[in-house]
Amino acid sequence: MKTEQVNSLLRVSVRFTSCVLVVCFISLCVHGINAETKFLVYASIDPFKRVPLSFYFIVERDGETMFNRAKLLNVGFAEALKEYDYECFIFSDVDIVPMDDRNIYKCYSQPRHLAVAIDKFGFRLPYNQNFGGVSALSKEQYMKINGFPNNYWGWGGEDDDIYHRVRIKGMSLSRPNGKIGRCRMIRHKRDLHNQPNPKRFYNIAHTRQTMETNGINSLKYQVVRIEKDQLFTKITVDIVTP
Ligand code: BGC
Repeated sequence: MKTEQVNSLLRVSVRFTSCVLVVCFISLCVHGINAETKFLVYASIDPFKRVPLSFYFIVERDGETMFNRAKLLNVGFAEALKEYDYECFIFSDVDIVPMDDRNIYKCYSQPRHLAVAIDKFGFRLPYNQNFGGVSALSKEQYMKINGFPNNYWGWGGEDDDIYHRVRIKGMSLSRPNGKIGRCRMIRHKRDLHNQPNPKRFYNIAHTRQTMETNGINSLKYQVVRIEKDQLFTKITVDIVTP
């Protein structure tokens, strides 16, 4: 059998759980490590061998424009659905690695916050409303909140916005306990083009007014490149910086 045939069979067979992990990369090259290497590091530490995940989508912005985590995750959602009708989406920062096998990466009856006790924060939630690091939403839950906001350029706030969206739509966060939810964060300096976003406080305060028109229904981007491997698809995207 030709390699392409094997690849395509693998790609179909690994999807039975209908769950996809979307990882956004912060930049093309961070501290001399390129995106693929980071993915390999991530995959080899491997939270995934022991969780019922079927596929990974890596989304990386093209060039050196401002980072926009939420928008990249929206792109991952939209592009993953073009490949397969996934029912469950795990959205993860590339630097967060879960430490406990019981922290199952899957979707629950409520949106799930999976990175609840990160070493960086002394293995505690930094504050009760925090929804950062890794989250799991079913397609239905994600559509209910109109996906993620597209207008958080730079660091911070987009996860707080998503938290508000979930609450406004009458849902609550589900979480593992602080022991099961322990995670490590791979140490790195603040990345280029990801300075704290001064507009985040204003944006967060207006989630209720903006969420119906700012999200997956208003997402604009251009795919620059799609690379398909056996177990992941990597998408390089122009996220159209304003
Ligand atoms: C930011 C969040 C971030 C949290 C923890 C908050 O101030 O708005 O985006 O996840 O701090 O670092």
